[in-house]
Amino acid sequence: MQHISVIGSGTMGNGIAHVFAQKGYKVALIDISQPALDKALTNIAKNLDRMVAKERISEADKASTLANITTYTALAEGVKSADLVVEAATENKELKFKIFKEMDAHAPAGCILASNTSSISITELAAQTGRPDKVIGMHFMNPVPVMKLVEIINGYNTSKEVTATIDELSKKIGKVPAMANDYPGFIANRILMPMINEAIWTLHEGVGEVTNIDTVMKLGMAHPMGPLQLADFIGLDVCLAILNVLHDGFGNPKYAPCPLLVNMVNAGKKGIKSGEGFYSWTHGTKELIVSDSFT
Ligand code: NAD
Repeated sequence: MQHISVIGSGTMGNGIAHVFAQKGYKVALIDISQPALDKALTNIAKNLDRMVAKERISEADKASTLANITTYTALAEGVKSADLVVEAATENKELKFKIFKEMDAHAPAGCILASNTSSISITELAAQTGRPDKVIGMHFMNPVPVMKLVEIINGYNTSKEVTATIDELSKKIGKVPAMANDYPGFIANRILMPMINEAIWTLHEGVGEVTNIDTVMKLGMAHPMGPLQLADFIGLDVCLAILNVLHDGFGNPKYAPCPLLVNMVNAGKKGIKSGEGFYSWTHGTKELIVSDSFT
């Protein structure tokens, strides 16, 4: 495997492109937006600079990583010689269905089609293609160059050979793969989102204030970040969308999103991306301004 195409150059796509390029793969980074591609390259260069400053890589490594990345705005052109495509476009089912149809039409017959989706069924994505045995989930964590985990999701029709290839590839790029089958939320979000939802219920019912809830989970359970702060990082709209997928997919009321979460999203409080969630954030940065502002 030599040529990797990455579709979508946002938060996740630029990290995925960075990791593959740093390991010597030829990466085609594809986005419909030229400004998004420009921003991705700037971001990758900045992250590489940080690694050079920490003496984890050399200037030459930085140069060769950047030289391994070519950008495209036309999907057909960007996937035409791919051995693997990792789709990391916006989390929207209809959009991903369209992209999977296009990938299937333009990527070589033997090419594996992976998705970084957080919540959309891999089996449904595979059904948009004529090669469901070659469709798989490759769920990276944010920030991709730092986080070790890749959750590999086997669709109903994913072949054992494809799973083995992606497992081996994940190890080759320095990640630790964990296998999951294709059910709502896979493993990561099925466990994480109910915890975040319960933290929001705990706040909603007045059991504890924001900082107390996060302190209990940080210091008591050794989590690096409390669940409410983590929700602000992920985006409250994203948390709500994933809880709805779990709720609809299992039909079990235990996954119903807390009304406080629904209200906050409707009020435009989405966490870091909107400047306010459970905490207030200096707009566009991860800097905390006030705590306990929302109880
Ligand atoms: P993002 O909004 O930062 O980036 C999405 C990119 O996709 C944008 O640059 C957009 O221009 C591009 N795009 C939209 N339509 C396209 C098309 N037709 N062709 C090519 N590019 C297109 O989103 P993100 O946070 O990087 O999320 C991407 C995927 O990764 C989603 O499926 C999301 O669920 C998943 N994910 C996100 C995180 C996270 O923490 N952000 C973590 C794990 C998985």
